[in-house]
Amino acid sequence: MPRPTADRSRGAAVRLRGIVKQYGAGRPAVNAVSLDIEAGEFITFLGPSGSGKTTTLNAIAGFIDTDAGEIELGGVAVAAMRPHLRNIGMVFQHFTLFPHMTVAENVAYPLRQRKVPAKERARRVQAALERVQLGEYGNRRPDQLSGGQQQRVAVARAVVFEPRVLLMDEPFGALDRKLREELQIQLKGLHRDLGITIIFVTHDQEEALVLSDRIAVFNNGSIDQIGTPAELYDRPENRFVAQFLGESNIFDGTVQEVEGVRVLACPEGRFILPAPAADPGTEIHAMVRPEKCRITPLDPDGAGLTNALKGEVEEEIFLGSSRKLLVRTPTDRVVTVRSTAGANRDVSVGSKVFVTWDSADLLVMR
Ligand code: ADP
Ligand code: MG
Repeated sequence: MPRPTADRSRGAAVRLRGIVKQYGAGRPAVNAVSLDIEAGEFITFLGPSGSGKTTTLNAIAGFIDTDAGEIELGGVAVAAMRPHLRNIGMVFQHFTLFPHMTVAENVAYPLRQRKVPAKERARRVQAALERVQLGEYGNRRPDQLSGGQQQRVAVARAVVFEPRVLLMDEPFGALDRKLREELQIQLKGLHRDLGITIIFVTHDQEEALVLSDRIAVFNNGSIDQIGTPAELYDRPENRFVAQFLGESNIFDGTVQEVEGVRVLACPEGRFILPAPAADPGTEIHAMVRPEKCRITPLDPDGAGLTNALKGEVEEEIFLGSSRKLLVRTPTDRVVTVRSTAGANRDVSVGSKVFVTWDSADLLVMR
């Protein structure tokens, strides 16, 4: 039977318009961020440390005042609304359970604040703990739980009062990889079950790709690009996004026309551009993903190809299902090629090779 699609109406839409936050002098921490998040959407703020993710999240939560801009939750402007009235759940990176309370008391805390009667409170606490697979742990204290379990309690506490929006700031950042992956899968299930809007912050691109309906890439206090994981990976609009999400080989050069064909002329060579290409003389960046590159031992010039780089294999990295080859060109560039584990077996460190790709796989960026 097909899985029923989630009822996303339990989430609130979040609308940001021109959010600015300046701390002291210099460039603002958040500079004119505008964003429309749909009700029930799972959106991730992805970006390096210091790019303004937490500041934006704190503005939505109401923990900081902004210098400019508007925030709407479910169509209502919230500028003047105190944080606890915004009905937003929050989970932080550092474990923030109250150490002197039991797990059940921790989860009950937001319900007490909201004066939910004891019987109803107990029922909802138990349901929230079961949602995070901790139904049996209500009587423990936080220090009797592992880090992963503590974060699951924090999630239960953040959703027990049925918020319409859940904000999560690097919640799995302090956990080891395997555990993080387990919690990511659980969080996807929770999102589907609850149907609420989740805004998730991470600097980990893989985590963003796994979890998100859409990703907003933060760079220097602004959003560079917003899109589905596939859109961002397949069509990054600029160099920063291409490099931040996945691996990339980027060539910087100028468009030229050679025998009626538009090519990118760069120090590494001349590469055919996919149509429609920019006018000759335009400076562009072009990118090809490592998995779109192929290794060939023959000189492709002889075979009439132009999309080729000559080089020597400098490093060979076994990755289980795939293999990564780092190829150094005579111009001292290192190009990354990723192939399936069985391919190019005769190629290893020291091999002289050519790297080639289909011109349709060369992506032109700003
Ligand atoms: P991120 O979460 O993406 O790592 P932040 O939003 O925490 O980034 O920070 C963005 C910028 O604002 C950084 O340069 C940071 O140093 C600065 N910043 C954040 N909080 C404060 C603060 N309370 N006082 C001064 N500067 C701050
Ligand atoms: Mg942060």
